[in-house]
Amino acid sequence: MEKSERNRRIGAYVAPYRGLFAMGIAAMLLMTAANLAGPLILRSIIDDSIPRADMRGMALRALAFLGIIAVSGAITYVGSIVVARLGLNVVTQVKNEVFGHLLTLPVAYFDAHPVGELMARVESDSEKVKQLFSEIGITLITEVFFFAGVLAVCFSLDPAITIWIAAALPPILAFVILFFDRLRALYDKSRKMWARISASVAEFVQGIEVLRAFDRVAWAESSLDETARAKRANDVRTSFLEYGAMSGLGFLVGPAFMAAIVVVIAPKILAGAMTLGTLLVFLEYGRRLLEPIMAIAENVRGFQQARVSLDRIFAILALEGEPGSAAGIACAPHAFERSIDFEGVWFRYREDSWVLRDISFSIPKGSTIALVGPSGSGKSTAVSLLCRFYDPQRGRILVDGRPLGELGLPEWRRRIGLVLQDAYLFPGALVENVRVYDDAIGEDRVRSALDAVGASDFVDRLPSGLRSEIRERGSNLSGGERQLVAFARAIAFGPEIVVLDEATASVDAQTERRIREGMAGLLQGRTALVVAHRLSSIVGADEILFMKNGAIAARGSHEGLMKGFPEYAELVRLQFPEAAAGVGNARG
Ligand code: ADP
Repeated sequence: MEKSERNRRIGAYVAPYRGLFAMGIAAMLLMTAANLAGPLILRSIIDDSIPRADMRGMALRALAFLGIIAVSGAITYVGSIVVARLGLNVVTQVKNEVFGHLLTLPVAYFDAHPVGELMARVESDSEKVKQLFSEIGITLITEVFFFAGVLAVCFSLDPAITIWIAAALPPILAFVILFFDRLRALYDKSRKMWARISASVAEFVQGIEVLRAFDRVAWAESSLDETARAKRANDVRTSFLEYGAMSGLGFLVGPAFMAAIVVVIAPKILAGAMTLGTLLVFLEYGRRLLEPIMAIAENVRGFQQARVSLDRIFAILALEGEPGSAAGIACAPHAFERSIDFEGVWFRYREDSWVLRDISFSIPKGSTIALVGPSGSGKSTAVSLLCRFYDPQRGRILVDGRPLGELGLPEWRRRIGLVLQDAYLFPGALVENVRVYDDAIGEDRVRSALDAVGASDFVDRLPSGLRSEIRERGSNLSGGERQLVAFARAIAFGPEIVVLDEATASVDAQTERRIREGMAGLLQGRTALVVAHRLSSIVGADEILFMKNGAIAARGSHEGLMKGFPEYAELVRLQFPEAAAGVGNARG
């Protein structure tokens, strides 16, 4: 990202908190001034008050010294709060924007970016951005102020010695930066090992039944143990380096630096060219100079990482949302009068291979079209195109002769009742799962939707009826019950069109019957496109499209295809042995 562009965007985040930002900077400047003033007051006590035996002056200066310490403590406190608040405000805004924006992105984006990874990335990136606006920002700014201030005061006291000191600093800074780089690499390694351990634990816990059943618990334990040992070894090395090098710097470099100052200044004092008080100022500043050096070195890398994080966040924000999702695209309330038509539709997810090739078919209003065929032949993809989760690369989908792309996306989707193969249920009350948290849909409508799909009796059996809690992914319902809830959800939204991807899992005869009845309720009086896996849905359809390798290999009625298309007859024979008993039975 262009530097100026990045700065402009950062500015935009800070702009609403200009006041806080200004207060933070002012606090840092005051703090620096107070820190610089301390040694200067000591100098005037030593050089001025003591030789003149001026007790009053000495007491006043000592009081001023104490006052400055107190004031600088208070300013530090206020400044930290102000800056922390700034960081929190900015990060909240960044996260809101990113999560809000993610929800508008096309489905294809989530194909390429697994949700877990995406969330972890956004979370850690925004955390780094928060640090940039709080800890890292504060430290870098105050320490740079202090560093510049020290050099300026020293220069005004004795330019020659200051130049000597300044010359010694770059090698120390370089050493410290290298040291922190090494330390950070070790920390990163440790973090990655930790991520691996916690991912393994999560996987092992989720797969505990498999591990137990196949007697692999001991293997799981030893594999965890191995990673944990490696992490421990790495952590030991890290601590060794951290504390070893830190104390080395503190005990060796620090005193050596001060000794060098004394060696350079002592002759000047003896020659009467410099006072003791000035020596004290140099020593005091020299001692404290190591702090900003360490702090700057430690935070420079954090600063760079935060910039990378910011760029990644800006990259997500720069992605385009779904086409046509902007409000305001007109869509007549009853645009669908005659038919939906796929016209020579070609589609591919990736450059290398077409998933749909030249698909053409029509869904007349009120009819049910069934898609059948081997798995991977493109049935679900055709359904996704109808819902406009993706747009075809060639050809078009028309609604009463109008291209789908010209209809407003939200309006179009509102006409569709979608039932996916793996019906997703949110953890929460059953009623909310049916109306997807849309309060405009009253409980009576939820109930009649459940009635229509024949789910009322199972709902009544639940401990709190409509208010019963559904666990994550609906794990406390049976597969058949989840399907019925998904049907009811589709109906509750009063769709004109039903798009249904039937579950492939086989169910017992009783559940099968309930699902069949539920489906009849769902399809009643509606236009439907069904990826069919049940014989009843296939037989009940007005037209069956047999798909193979992304193309429609044959179409017609069940009877016609059974007679005229051996591959279809074979598929039916394999999947539904009971069909041999006769088509009439399957209809019932
Ligand atoms: P069906 O519903 O007939 O089983 P699909 O439409 O699900 O077939 O899949 C058709 C082909 O497209 C398959 O080869 C599948 O691997 C591929 N495919 C499906 N979804 C995606 C996706 N999100 N990204 C990439 N390829 C996909």
